[in-house]
Amino acid sequence: MSGPDQLQAVAAAFEAHFGTAPQVVASAPGRVNLLGEHTDYNGGYVLPIALKHLSVAVAVSRGAVPGVIEAWSDTFHEAETRAIGEARAGRWSDYLLGCVKAVAEAQVAETGLRAAVITNLPLGAGLSSSAALEVASLRAVTRLYGIEMSPQEIAIAARAVENDFVGMPCGIMDQFTSSVGQPGAALFLDTRTLAFTPVPGFAEHRFVVVHSGVSHQLTDSGYATRVAECNAASAALDVEMLSDLGPGDLARIGAIPEPLNRRARHIVTDNRLTREGLVALQQGDAVAFGRLMIASHASERDDYEITVPETDALVAAAVDAGALGARQTGGGFGGAIVALVPRAQVEDWCAAITAQFAHARVLAVT
Ligand code: ADP
Ligand code: MG
Repeated sequence: MSGPDQLQAVAAAFEAHFGTAPQVVASAPGRVNLLGEHTDYNGGYVLPIALKHLSVAVAVSRGAVPGVIEAWSDTFHEAETRAIGEARAGRWSDYLLGCVKAVAEAQVAETGLRAAVITNLPLGAGLSSSAALEVASLRAVTRLYGIEMSPQEIAIAARAVENDFVGMPCGIMDQFTSSVGQPGAALFLDTRTLAFTPVPGFAEHRFVVVHSGVSHQLTDSGYATRVAECNAASAALDVEMLSDLGPGDLARIGAIPEPLNRRARHIVTDNRLTREGLVALQQGDAVAFGRLMIASHASERDDYEITVPETDALVAAAVDAGALGARQTGGGFGGAIVALVPRAQVEDWCAAITAQFAHARVLAVT
């Protein structure tokens, strides 16, 4: 379910929970990242696709009690009541509360707010449900109060909420893709300048997203450790950001202590692979693109150490089953993989993979 159906469904969910129709409904897509992982908070390149049929929808209305947000999510089947002045509480409603505070604190202090959330995007699968929730929340709340914000401004605000309110030190890729990306098309983004190039996918190949069945919890995971390691590597190498480095710096990168050397090398590698990926995609060279995905997974596994045995096995099996390339996608420590599969083979390929892995689930073909 996506698009108009999902908006109708979130309106129905709102009405079922609160007894009145919502004033505004909005949605935002998840994304699958094709190349460039953890490069975004290092000022590097990324190449994600906003997903067509996997999104979060939010319905809102002015509330009953000034300063109070009543929030309901069909994912957790529970209502959460938050005061607009509250700090984060380690709950799902932090994402909504943070977004409301960022753009409409004064308005909600006066009117209160009711919100219902539905999704068909799996949480913690590396497909950016958090960013989709933020962007959908910001879209809904800005429309409710007539606040003008561009898609870029929404992306920047959403990232700030995740960094500063939720406490997850992510880069801008997820929020930018969800807010600015055209569902179905790839987006090459320079995270330093926010300059971006939309690129259509391959004509005769599809990107297939498969959940490994292992979920991550990013705020608890090694993500923040990797951010800290990159900062330490930047200091050791005397650069502002690791994306200041290129292949010519690999010798001096190798000389800094373990594991900082490998963390920095991953950023250099994946940044290069992402630039090459843009060219391969623009030239329609799926074979070259597949090779880049395989190299990127190896760098994620060996240098950045963000893969898990389940995603490593799934990536290997994906290629054995006929994919031109495959890699773990998203922040890591489990979640989904993305594979590049000839269009005519997608059905058989999916059947082969799901027969082999009991917990694997095909989430999207794009
Ligand atoms: P990812 O963004 O890869 O899916 P994160 O750990 O960054 O994983 O974000 C997942 C968190 O986002 C969930 O634990 C929950 O707090 C919040 N979230 C996402 N979608 C929803 C939803 N539909 N309802 C409530 N909370 C959600
Ligand atoms: Mg997230």
